Amino acid sequence: MRQRIARFMLGRNGQDPLNIFILIAATAALVLGSFLRGFVGDILRLITLALIAVSWFRMLSKNLPRRRAENARYLRWRYQVSGFFRCQKTRWEQRRDYRFFTCPSCRSTLRVPRGRGKIRIVCRKCGSSFTRKS
Ligand SMILES: [Zn+2]
Repeated sequence: MRQRIARFMLGRNGQDPLNIFILIAATAALVLGSFLRGFVGDILRLITLALIAVSWFRMLSKNLPRRRAENARYLRWRYQVSGFFRCQKTRWEQRRDYRFFTCPSCRSTLRVPRGRGKIRIVCRKCGSSFTRKS
């Protein structure tokens, strides 16, 4: 039986991080949908079924280049999202010693020491400067 499954899965995509994310989303929709009655609950149950169908399709798919590209896109997105939260965590940990500003011309984040009064801040990335209270 194990060998038959292994032979069946040969050349197929199988499980990947994107599929795991889809199944977690399906579970979330299922749990949320079980609390809600009526139209919204029906929609959530429909979404659950659709997500499970997509996950099965991706798992059994033989179009590996396409599935790998989807997974890579998902991993890039996940890295960006986790990077944003990592950045917010660092800012929160350093909030007593530093103030954070956004450069008005290039939108990059600038960190300056707190309690220096009114200072001229020069962006290291684009060289533009502006005055703020630190
Ligand atoms: Zn700048």
